[in-house]
Amino acid sequence: MLRLPPFTYIAPNTLQEAAEAMSTHGEDAMLVAGGTDLYPNMKRRQFEPKVLVGLRNIRELRRISGDSERGMIVGAGATLQEVSSHPTIMEHYHAVAKAAGLVSTPPLRNMGTIGGNLCVDPRCNYYNMPHQWRKAIGFCMKKDGAGCLVAPGSSRCWAISSSDLAPVAIALEADVRLVGPKGERVISAEALYRDDGIDYLAKDRAEILSEVHLPPADGWRTTYWKLRRRGSFDFPILGVAARMRLDGDGKVEDAKLVLGAVASRPVEVREARSRLTERWPTEEDLAAVAEAAFNVAKPMDNADGHFYWRKRMVRPYVLGALKELLEVPMS
Ligand SMILES: Cc1cc2nc3c(=O)[nH]c(=O)nc-3n(C[C@H](O)[C@H](O)[C@H](O)COP(=O)(O)OP(=O)(O)OC[C@H]3O[C@@H](n4cnc5c(N)ncnc54)[C@H](O)[C@@H]3O)c2cc1C
Ligand code: SF4
Repeated sequence: MLRLPPFTYIAPNTLQEAAEAMSTHGEDAMLVAGGTDLYPNMKRRQFEPKVLVGLRNIRELRRISGDSERGMIVGAGATLQEVSSHPTIMEHYHAVAKAAGLVSTPPLRNMGTIGGNLCVDPRCNYYNMPHQWRKAIGFCMKKDGAGCLVAPGSSRCWAISSSDLAPVAIALEADVRLVGPKGERVISAEALYRDDGIDYLAKDRAEILSEVHLPPADGWRTTYWKLRRRGSFDFPILGVAARMRLDGDGKVEDAKLVLGAVASRPVEVREARSRLTERWPTEEDLAAVAEAAFNVAKPMDNADGHFYWRKRMVRPYVLGALKELLEVPMS
């Protein structure tokens, strides 16, 4: 049985106290929300914090407010179950409710939060393993070692962004509020992520993601398609988040497409906007966007399923998501 290492648990009641505790304990401290990813990672010694700063006592993190006209503010501590079953989110932010409802299993969705999901550690088959397993193969640069076992010779880590909600937040052009010891700021979800399997968040480690700001629904249609081996359980090995707005005649006014689990951060497929907007998309337009998505997806051999199969699945998943938004039957 894998056991947790010893640690000190701090349970602040306010965001400011939590940020100050993170600042005081520096590199020794980590934030914990639901703990559904952090605790298993600690058991495998991927993380070895001496201090955990728990967020569960901070009431303001649980709040979900706003409406589809003004936009919604979703507290980072809202559980995935609360997000996926919220009536306004279900009705007006379909992709958010769907992605949250597809994370793992019901027990993990009851504990896991939207903030923890957006900050979840990138994954790799050579890293998400028990300490003894990693020791036997000589470790890697993400923890305890030097090189990369997937791309030997690489100076960077290629662990995969495996959050279901990260590509959705970017596709919807959501913002996130960060609260740190020196103050707070609001940045786009797009700006939160770096293309690096180790240093994957563009925020100070003491900063707490406190809210997700969803923009006004404003006629946008959204969806999320997820590929995984076991439909009841697994992390995504491909995520397709799409957003589209049509005018009264069915012409596309604007579109955005973001892929998850194909790199160390979510990847936007810019051709979706340039190829689909200001027109009634044809089968050729949709196929061109699917091809562009295929080209930008660069899965590596470090997740479930053969990497080339994961890449080939990009085309049908993108087509499926776009056709769902256009209400075109699948051919
Ligand atoms: C078997 C299994 C299957 C899973 N399947 C999926 C899946 O299909 N899709 C998926 O996306 N995830 C999956 N997960 C990962 C995880 O359960 C979810 O991502 C969950 O939403 C994480 O939320 P949490 O509150 O439990 O985060 P925690 O485990 O508490 O934290 C995760 C990370 O986020 C940081 N963090 C937490 N909250 C904040 C905050 N407010 N501000 C800044 N940093 C913060 C923590 O320090 C930690 O690094 C799975 C995990 C397991 C064990
Ligand atoms: S991509 Fe390379 S460095 Fe990163 S976790 Fe995997 S083996 Fe380690």
